[in-house]
Amino acid sequence: MRIDDIRQRLRASGAKPCHEQRVLRAWTQALPLDGGQSRSEDFFPAPLRAGLPAIATELAALAHVRSEHAGEDGARLLVELADGQAVESVLLPRDGLCVSTQVGCAVGCAFCMTGRDGLLRQLGSAEIVAQVVLARSRRVVRKVVFMGMGEPAHNLDNVLEAIGLLGTEGGIGHKNLVFSTVGDRRVFERLPQGNVKPALALSLHTTRAALRAKLMPRAPRIDPAELVELGETYARATGYPIQYQWTLLAGVNDDDEELDGIVRLLAGKYAVMNFIPYNSVAGTGFARPSWEHAAAMARHLHRRGILTKLRHSAGQDVDGGCGQLRARAIAPGGV
Ligand code: SF4
Repeated sequence: MRIDDIRQRLRASGAKPCHEQRVLRAWTQALPLDGGQSRSEDFFPAPLRAGLPAIATELAALAHVRSEHAGEDGARLLVELADGQAVESVLLPRDGLCVSTQVGCAVGCAFCMTGRDGLLRQLGSAEIVAQVVLARSRRVVRKVVFMGMGEPAHNLDNVLEAIGLLGTEGGIGHKNLVFSTVGDRRVFERLPQGNVKPALALSLHTTRAALRAKLMPRAPRIDPAELVELGETYARATGYPIQYQWTLLAGVNDDDEELDGIVRLLAGKYAVMNFIPYNSVAGTGFARPSWEHAAAMARHLHRRGILTKLRHSAGQDVDGGCGQLRARAIAPGGV
C-alpha cells in the first residue's frame, strides 16, 4: 500500500485536506486516528468518522513486530508484513530508527547478508512509514535513517513518498531523515526537487573503482571521485554534510593507500567519514579489523582535516549485520 492509496481512501470517505492531514499526522505519530473519542465529533464529518475504524484496521495490518532482540546499543525488530514477508528495523540510540525499504536487495554487496537472496519485493511507502509507527508505539523517534534492508534508490518513489510524509505530518526534521544509498544518478536528480530534502549517506567503502565494483557488484558504475562531487553539490545545496559510510574489511580497504585516497577525495569537502568495522558474517570470507587499527585510521584522517567517526554498527551485539535476523527467521525452526 502507498500513502497515496490512504489519501484516496480518506477522500472517498469525505475527508477534506485538513482532515486528511489530521489523520495522517495521528497515524505517523502512533496516535488514535480519530483524535480520541472526545474530539472526533469536532474533528471529522460523520461519514469519515464512520470509515475511520476500517482504515485504522488496514493500517494496523500493514506491519507488526514478530520478535524483538535487545542489545546494548539498540534493539533490532523483526517486522512482519501483511503478506508474511519480514524486514528489519533497528531502534538506535538517541531516538533514532533504521528502517528497511525492500525485502532483500539487488545490489548484492559481497559482505552483506541481505544481498544474498537478491530482491524479493519492494516495500510500499505505507509499509516504510508503518515501521516508524511501530517504533513510535514503543518509544520516541526523532530521526529515521533509510539504511536497513534494501537500496532506497531502487525503490525511489516509495521512499521519497515516505520521506515526504515523515518530514511533514510525521514531524521529523528534514536533516534527521537520512537517505542512504550506494550512489545512483537518479538520487541526485530527484532529492533536490522534493519539498522535504533529506540528509544523504553515501556508501563509499573504497576509493578504488575496480574494488568497489567487486564489493558492490550491481551498484551503478560511478567513479568514487564523481560520486563525491555529486554528493558535494547536494551537501552545499541542502546545508547538511554528506555522511560517507565505509565498512572496514581487514586487509581489503583498511590500508595506507585507501587513507591517501580518502584524503584526496574528501579534503575540503562538506563531509563526515563514518568507519564501521565489519560485523563478521560466517561464509562471506571477510574479517573485522582490530578496533585499535580502525581507531588509528580515524586519527590519521583527523590529522589530515577529515572529520571521521568510528562507529559500532547498531545492534551488533544482538546478532550482527543487516539481514541476519531475517535470514534466521526464514531458516527452518527460525525466530
Ligand atoms: Fe543492499 Fe545495503 Fe546489503 Fe548492499 S549493504 S546488498 S545495498 S542492503
